Amino acid sequence: AASDPQDATDTTGTTDTTPRASTARATVHGYPRQGPGRELKKAIEGYWRGRVSAEALHTTAAGLRRANWRAMAEAGLDELPTGDFSYYDHVLDTTVMVGAVPERHRAAVEADPLDGYFAMARGTQEAAPLEMTKWFDTNYHYLVPELGPETVFRADSGKQTGELKEALALGVEARPVLVGPVTYLLLAKPAPGAPEDFEPLTLLERLLPVYAEVLADLRAAGARWVQLDEPALVPDRTHGQLAAAGRAYRELGGLADRPRLLVASYFDRLEEALPVLAKTPVEGLALDFTGPAAANLDALAAAGGLPGKRLVAGVIDGRNVWINDYARSMTTLGTLLGLADRVDVAPSCSLLHVPLDAGAERDIDPQVARWLAFAAQKTAEAATLARGLSQGTGAIGGELAANRADLASRAASPLTHDAAVRARTAAVTEADARRSAPYARRTAAQRTRLGLPPLPTTTIGSFPQTGELRAARADLRAGRIDEAAYERRIAAEIREVVSFQEEAGLDVLVHGEPERNDMVQYFAERLTGYLATRHGWVQSYGTRYVRPPICAGDVSRPQPMTVRWTQYAQSLTTRPVKGMLTGPVTMLAWSFVRDDQPAAETARQVALALRDEVCELEAAGTAVIQVDEPALRETLPLRAADRPGYLAWATEAFRLTTSGVRADTQIHTHMCYAEFGDILRAIDDLDADVISLEAARSRMQVADELAAHRYPREAGPGVYDIHAPRVPGADEVAALLRKGLTALPADRLWVNPDCGLKTRGWPEVRASLANLTAAARTVRGEL
Ligand code: GLN
Ligand code: ZN
Repeated sequence: AASDPQDATDTTGTTDTTPRASTARATVHGYPRQGPGRELKKAIEGYWRGRVSAEALHTTAAGLRRANWRAMAEAGLDELPTGDFSYYDHVLDTTVMVGAVPERHRAAVEADPLDGYFAMARGTQEAAPLEMTKWFDTNYHYLVPELGPETVFRADSGKQTGELKEALALGVEARPVLVGPVTYLLLAKPAPGAPEDFEPLTLLERLLPVYAEVLADLRAAGARWVQLDEPALVPDRTHGQLAAAGRAYRELGGLADRPRLLVASYFDRLEEALPVLAKTPVEGLALDFTGPAAANLDALAAAGGLPGKRLVAGVIDGRNVWINDYARSMTTLGTLLGLADRVDVAPSCSLLHVPLDAGAERDIDPQVARWLAFAAQKTAEAATLARGLSQGTGAIGGELAANRADLASRAASPLTHDAAVRARTAAVTEADARRSAPYARRTAAQRTRLGLPPLPTTTIGSFPQTGELRAARADLRAGRIDEAAYERRIAAEIREVVSFQEEAGLDVLVHGEPERNDMVQYFAERLTGYLATRHGWVQSYGTRYVRPPICAGDVSRPQPMTVRWTQYAQSLTTRPVKGMLTGPVTMLAWSFVRDDQPAAETARQVALALRDEVCELEAAGTAVIQVDEPALRETLPLRAADRPGYLAWATEAFRLTTSGVRADTQIHTHMCYAEFGDILRAIDDLDADVISLEAARSRMQVADELAAHRYPREAGPGVYDIHAPRVPGADEVAALLRKGLTALPADRLWVNPDCGLKTRGWPEVRASLANLTAAARTVRGEL
C-alpha cells in the first residue's frame, strides 16, 4: 500500500491515519469483449462448428484480454478490471463460480467444462438452456440462474484467479470484478421443481461462504481490491431485500482474509440502498452520477458522505456514445472530493454496452466523429479526468479546451439544430396526439371499410428472411448486383409472400418486410439525424452482436420509406395489406440517443417523421397500419417514481405517430412480451385500434388480463409461438382461441402469431399458418 498514497485502509479494514491524499485513479468496470475484428465471436462460433480447437479458442481469448489491458493501460488507466471477460455471459460465469450448475447440465459440465458451459448457454438435444433475459434496462441479455431449496453452492474461483494472474503478469494493477451475491440471487429464478414462490434471496446465508472463499483465493492470487457489482440494488427494493444487502456486506466486510471490497451500482441512483451500503464495513462504493443517477450526489451528501471509504465516481456515461462534458464532470468530482476519503474516476458502468473504438469509424463526418466516445475514448476520458482531479484543471488545460470546442461544435451544428424540425415539434398540440374520432366511431367505420370476418387472421409483419435474401443484400453492398436487380429480388419475394397468404386464407396480409435488414436500422438509414456505424458492434447476447444506429441530430424524413413496397404488395391482392412501421419508442430504445436534449424531445421528432409516413401510407390506400412498439416496456425506468413521466412521453409519441389518420384507417400495434400487467394503462393510452401481443407461451392468460382490465378495443394474443421451430396443431390453436373467447368477443379477438416470422423457416411457417387459419375457421363455425 506504500506506493499508493490514497490507500488509507489496509486489508483488514482498519483505517490508518495517513492524511487524505489527492491521487485520483482512473478505472473502468469492464471492457468490450469481442475484439476489434470481432475475433472472439469468430473463434467461439468456429469452436461450435468444430473448426476451432478449444486450445485455439483459449489462445484467442487470452490474446484479446491482453490487448484490452494493454490498451487500457496505455490510455492511462491506473487500475484495470479482470474477470469481466466472458465466453458468453458474466452471469453464467458467476453461476459456474458458485457451482450452481442446473441438474440437467451437470453431467455435461463435469465431462467437459467448456462444452458444458456452452450447453447451459445454448441448450442441447437433451437439455434446455438457461433462460435468457435483459440485463436491467440495457439491450444485453444474461442467462438467468436457476436456484432452489436444494441448490448446493461450491466455490470455483479458477476463471477469476486465472484472469487476475494474467493481468498481474503484465505488470499492471488489476481489480477483479464479480457479480455481487445479492444481485446474483435477485436475478435468479426458482429452478425447475422448486416451489414457484421460492425466493432465491433466501439462499444468501449459503452463498456468502462461497464468496468468502473466492475472495480469499483472489487475495492469495494478488488482488488488493475486488469489485462486487450490485446493480440489482438500484430498482426499488423491499425492506427485506435491503436488509439482506446490509447483512451480506457486513458479513463479507467482517472477513479476516479478504481483499478490499468495492461495491458497485450503476444504471441509476441507489436511493434507500445507499445508506445501507454506506454503513457496511466495505472499503469503497462505485456510484453512477450520470443522467437521473446524478441524484446520487445529493443523496450522498445527505447521508454524510463516505467517511473513510473510497468512492469510484461514474461521471462518464458508460452506456451511451457521446463525449463527456469535462467541465461539468470536474465540478461533480470536486464536490465529491469532500464526501469520501478518496475519489477515483470511471465510466458509470461496464463499457460492454458501447462499441469499442470511435476512431475506427471512417464513414462518419470527422466533425461529428469528434462528438463520439466509444470504449477506447471513454477510457481515455477517465484518465484525463483523474489527472485533472489529482493535479488540478491546469494539468488538463489542453484537453478541457478541446472538449469545450467539441461540445460547442455539437451545440451549434446544423445537424443538431434543424429549424424546421424544431418549429414543428414546438407547435405540437395536445390535439395532434389524439385521433379525430373516438374508438366507437372508428371501429364502426373500420368494420364497414374492411368487412373482416369474426376472429380475423393476420401476421405480425416479417416472413422468413431467407439466406437468399441476405445474400442479395450482401451482393448489393459489395456491388455484385445493382439496385435494380436487388429490387427485382425483393419484388419477387413480396409476390411469393402475398400469394402464400392468399392461399393460406389470411384476412389482413403483409408484404413480409423482405427489404428490411433490421426493424430499426432500416428506418434509421432513411431518416435524417441518424448515423450508421461500420464497426459499432455491441454484445446483445453470447456471440450475437448488434450495431445500433446513433441518433445524433434532429430527425426528419426526406422521403417516404415504406410506401412503395406496401403499395406494390397491395397491387397484388384485393385483401387489405397492412403497412408496417417501427414506432418512435422502439426507434429510440434500440439506438444510441442524443444526450443533449430530453429523450421526450427526440421521440417527438421521430414521431412526427413517422406520422408523415403513416399519412402517406393512408393516402396511398392503406387501410390498416401497424406501428410496432416491442420496446415500450423494456425502457421502462428502473425506478417506479420515474415511470409515469416516461410513459407519458412514450405514449404521446405513439399517438402523435398514429393520430393523423381518418377514422376508417385501422391502427395496429405490436409488443413482444406477455408480462405487461404493469403497463396495461399505458397500452390503453396508445389508443391503438388493435394490439397484438405475445401469448402463446402463457396460454392466453393475456386475454384474461385484457378482459379483467376491460380492454375496450381489439386484441390479438399470439396463438403461435414463433420462438421455436415447432408447428402448432390446428386443434391446439383452436383450443387457445376458445379460451380467448371467454375473455374477448369474436369481433374483437384477432388470430395471429406471437411475433414476426423472420427467424423461422418457410416449411414451418407454411404449416403453422395453415393450421392457424384452419383453427380460426373451425372456431368461427362454432360461434
Ligand atoms: N413487424 C416486425 C416483424 O414482424 C415486428 C418485430 C418485433 O416485434 N420485434 O418482424
Ligand atoms: Zn414481436
